[in-house]
Amino acid sequence: MSQIINSNHTTQISNVLVIGCGGAGLRAAIEVKLAGLQVSVLGKRARTDSHTVLAAGGINAAFGNVDPEDSWEQHFADTYLEGYGLGDSYQIEIMAKESPSLVKEIDEWGANFAKLQNGTLDQRFFGAHTFRRTCYSGDYTGLSILKTLIKKAESLNIPIHDTQYVTELLIKDQVCFGAMSFDQYSAERTVHLADAVILCTGGHTRIWKKSSSRKNENTGDGYYLSLKAGCELRDMEMVQFHPSGMLLPEEIAGTLVTEAVRGEGGKLINNKGERFMINYDSERMELSTRDRVAMANYIEIAEGRGTPNGGVYLDISHKSKEFIIQKIPSIYRQFLDSQMLDISKEPMEVAPTAHYSMGGVVVSPEHHCTSIRGLYAAGEVAGGLHGANRLGGNSLAEILIFGKKAGISSVAYSKQIKAQIRSEEAIRNAHENINKFLSKGTELAKPLKHKLGNVMWEHCGVIKDKKSLELGIKKVKEIKESIKNVDVRLHYQNCDDLVQIFDLESSVISAQATMLSALNREESRGSHQRSDYPELNDSGKYSCRVKLNQYNLELDISKKDISPLNHHHKNIINKTKDIRDFKGKLLE
Ligand SMILES: Cc1cc2nc3c(=O)[nH]c(=O)nc-3n(C[C@H](O)[C@H](O)[C@H](O)COP(=O)(O)OP(=O)(O)OC[C@H]3O[C@@H](n4cnc5c(N)ncnc54)[C@H](O)[C@@H]3O)c2cc1C
Repeated sequence: MSQIINSNHTTQISNVLVIGCGGAGLRAAIEVKLAGLQVSVLGKRARTDSHTVLAAGGINAAFGNVDPEDSWEQHFADTYLEGYGLGDSYQIEIMAKESPSLVKEIDEWGANFAKLQNGTLDQRFFGAHTFRRTCYSGDYTGLSILKTLIKKAESLNIPIHDTQYVTELLIKDQVCFGAMSFDQYSAERTVHLADAVILCTGGHTRIWKKSSSRKNENTGDGYYLSLKAGCELRDMEMVQFHPSGMLLPEEIAGTLVTEAVRGEGGKLINNKGERFMINYDSERMELSTRDRVAMANYIEIAEGRGTPNGGVYLDISHKSKEFIIQKIPSIYRQFLDSQMLDISKEPMEVAPTAHYSMGGVVVSPEHHCTSIRGLYAAGEVAGGLHGANRLGGNSLAEILIFGKKAGISSVAYSKQIKAQIRSEEAIRNAHENINKFLSKGTELAKPLKHKLGNVMWEHCGVIKDKKSLELGIKKVKEIKESIKNVDVRLHYQNCDDLVQIFDLESSVISAQATMLSALNREESRGSHQRSDYPELNDSGKYSCRVKLNQYNLELDISKKDISPLNHHHKNIINKTKDIRDFKGKLLE
């Protein structure tokens, strides 16, 4: 079949368009529909298989069911302090106050969280939380939340189109009026016209070679779409590395090995047989915080004390097989299935893996508006809540609370607009943005994605420095140049080339935003570690902002000071300070 270079499309109209059918997108759509407006949801992965299904451990809400001393104030303090003061205090307050009602709601809708004997929700410890406040469904909390949201959305007849790849937001005079997408099986294009658009496209951690995300997800699409639309990104240098990802087989390198392995007694050992955490946190050892253990693993490997496959050993073979199968059944199965390794007999090999994007689109703390009218963002794609570190269990709370809020805001906006903006020119440009890729070339997108993964791992990994970042930025620029020569062909029922090229385009711009921000922040803070600036800097309380210069199409970087805490928030921190004691508490 000849190349499909055209400007044909079908048109779909709704009041609100939601891009992304993970937890944030579905929760937003439900709110719009409950308010009586028309909503349409798009996704590039099957609705039952969005990234949210991977969330295992739980969702936070300060009910105080197990530890009655817990309070929203303590949840606020834990989140703000672990974010090293970069999180938006108003946004954190909203999350801490509102998560109990949203967790209760999703449980009542069918998530069926674990209960105590008195019928209230059970709560477990998660890393760096002062009290037990994480509600859960076994080790499949994300799956049960997503299934529940899908069921609710279906009961409300919300249309979910999960083969649609969104390539551009439609903007006229700083107002968003829809998006362009193509069908991943037929290449047919659709122009979605809407009063308001909510971006819920997740993060960008798949752009690292080792990542806890799967193929074809978390390629930073939301950052690409929003930068092109004129939005700002913040805190892109703040990327959380989980200490233990699988190393082999290559196809699933980075897949998470839950912290519960360490929680249940797993020891980290280098190639000299040393239990090396003694040199990094002699008190908490393997139960130290996520960023510290990740850094320790990284240093051991970088300094030549790693395993033959480039990791460190994680050993739980001193425990009985029965104990292991009872406590960490999925990890026992994971290694048996993928490596034929019986972890009750031999140690695992693990290495840090890119896990969570703390940064993202700049949004207002409550309504999650972006700087473009009619455009909202929620979930992992949005920045502001986590600052320099994310507490486990806070992101599932975030997607429900701020998904709902973005839904409410979009409804209010849709109801009050007087005239709908349309622009033929913007639609023509969106076609051209696809057509420009459809040509024969000498490069292929997949190897370039692979190359980018290596560059990110080598130059923007757990610990960075100026020289390496500068070299990495140069290498990413070269990959960007190669995009012009990528061979992209469309055949019947095969749009993979087009999917790959857009994934690559988004990945490259996300990589640039991340590296430039990391270069700009000359200190070490939370998940951002610089070997040339190992200390926390008093003047580091700013957020790095990235914007696409619409004239030269380069990324501009700037700093925005974080406002000091108001009196009320300061009081909360002072009151709760003495209670914080994480000693002996399980990390996940
Ligand atoms: C292994 C693992 C364990 C985790 N465990 C926990 C936990 O226990 N507790 C916790 O709070 N958090 C946990 N997290 C984090 C949490 O799962 C995520 O932050 C959260 O699910 C993100 O949800 P989201 O709705 O923002 O995005 P996602 O679930 O990533 O959904 C994004 C959606 O956008 C769509 N999309 C993206 N780009 C496009 C495009 N161009 N066109 C159309 N659609 C597009 C995708 O197809 C998808 O439907 C974990 C993460 C991992 C990887």
